[in-house]
Amino acid sequence: MSQVLLATRNAGKLVELQRLLAASDVPGLEVIGLADVPEFPEAPEVGATFAENALVKARDAAEATGLPSVADDSGLTVEALNGMPGVLSARWCGRHGDDVANLELLLGQLGDVPDERRGAAFICAAALVVPGTGNRQATETVVHGEWPGRIVRGPLGANGFGYDPIFVPTGEERTSAELSPDEKDAASHRGRAMRALLPLLRALT
Ligand code: IMP
Repeated sequence: MSQVLLATRNAGKLVELQRLLAASDVPGLEVIGLADVPEFPEAPEVGATFAENALVKARDAAEATGLPSVADDSGLTVEALNGMPGVLSARWCGRHGDDVANLELLLGQLGDVPDERRGAAFICAAALVVPGTGNRQATETVVHGEWPGRIVRGPLGANGFGYDPIFVPTGEERTSAELSPDEKDAASHRGRAMRALLPLLRALT
């Protein structure tokens, strides 16, 4: 049985990544998390792009454990904020990982922005780093998934995490926090990126 390590400490993302891989049913591939491997130093996220951050996280994990490693860096880009919060999505309120404070600050900033300028998109860069063995070179791959939509005026829904309660995907009336897990996975930035990695994950087994 081959193993792949999901290198994320974000509980919301981990649930989704595990769910996406379970639904894709890659026979012979065991999915493990950071709790299943010895701790290793993790570099701070200082990259200017989602791709750079995802690659650093996957590379650190692969080097420390010797396992093929997947990492996701993702966030929300808002047109009226010139693409921010972008790579700063997780710490937009000034501290890391406070989902409610992050979305409240964003709603306040967009208070006077009319409906036609509330466009936004979730972006996910997913990196897979496979360490070299014997005469096989290490490989690094980064894929992207995008989920376009708009920011509503107040939070709705209890599913998902992060900015889900204020994001309505294009073609939907519900926020992504009102979608079922299956509905989110079928359309989301993370779902799209993980499906793009599937051929490479299948090749590991
Ligand atoms: P990072 O990739 O760990 O830097 O954090 C990404 C941040 O973007 C999360 O903390 C969320 O605030 C936001 N984000 C990424 N993906 C989603 C999603 O699927 N729903 C809601 N928020 C998300």
